[in-house]
Amino acid sequence: MGKARLSVSEYVKGIRDRKRYILSQAITLIESTLKYDQQLAEEVLEALLPFSGQSLRIGITGVPGVGKSTFINALGPYLIDQGHRVAVLSVDPSSERSRGSILGDKTRMPDLSHHEAAYVRPSATGSTLGGVARKTRESILLCEAAGYDLILVETVGVGQSETLVHQMVDYFLLLMLAGAGDELQGIKRGIMEMTDMLVINKADGPNQSTAGEAKNEYQNALDLFPPPDSKVKPTVLTCSALESSGLSEIWEAIQHYEQTTRENGYFDKKRKGQRLQWLHDTIGQSLKEMFYQHPQVKYQLKDQEQAVLAGKVTPTRAARDLIRLFQHPA
Ligand code: GDP
Repeated sequence: MGKARLSVSEYVKGIRDRKRYILSQAITLIESTLKYDQQLAEEVLEALLPFSGQSLRIGITGVPGVGKSTFINALGPYLIDQGHRVAVLSVDPSSERSRGSILGDKTRMPDLSHHEAAYVRPSATGSTLGGVARKTRESILLCEAAGYDLILVETVGVGQSETLVHQMVDYFLLLMLAGAGDELQGIKRGIMEMTDMLVINKADGPNQSTAGEAKNEYQNALDLFPPPDSKVKPTVLTCSALESSGLSEIWEAIQHYEQTTRENGYFDKKRKGQRLQWLHDTIGQSLKEMFYQHPQVKYQLKDQEQAVLAGKVTPTRAARDLIRLFQHPA
């Protein structure tokens, strides 16, 4: 642990003064498993809460190799040129990701990470999806307090992480490739339904015409979906992250979405729903942790598991008995 901690007011001031290294230290605090750090992080977050929430939060997903890092490395500088300040957070709950690739995050977006107005944070890691969710949600708040008005949350397509990110962003963008085998590239229908924008990447060179065709196909497919609650139909666009083309159309569509949903009230409604979800997720996770840490539950759990495996009791009955033990210890 080694490093000395700052005081709450030093973290708060440093972040408000837009000092990136203080922001980094505060996010490290959020990620810490030490009780002391967690308490400190909570106080920092509480003090900064009034300064958070002012950004547009954009989720970006797609299968590995689709060009997410290249895309963010192109879109980020474009947005900065428009006068924005951009923070990039990554979500990758897969445990295989080694420390090596975490350190590689910055080099994945070399043009963006060297910008004064950018902040690129390596992936939040954690043993549980819930842990990763909390860290990312809290990091978003800190980045906002540090004056970043656009937060890009990148997710690696591993099923659950898209849903997780969808629950913490205002806008969800799915990157895809044209003509890559099966029409949805193994991407489940559920993801299409979460998507506000579908971008066909690598629309350059000989790929350009297939990208155009794919765009029409996806647009037709999306047109069959019921109208979304946002009242803004999902958009399909093409781009080349490598050549930085198509970015202005993408940004225009995102701005159109923001403006429309702010006006029709959906933007605020969605944010409020997400805050409540965060509350309930946390209650659920904390209770679960407390339950499994409980000495008597721990003591009895193995026996109950054996009994369930042997077909002596139903899982429902075993669960009920364990929960009773947790509520009314003997
Ligand atoms: P990620 O795994 O989704 O982050 O994908 P990367 O950004 O690492 O890109 C994977 C590969 O696709 C790299 O070799 C990129 O150079 C290449 N790539 C990304 N975007 C484009 C693009 O727009 N056009 C072309 N031709 N190649 C691209």
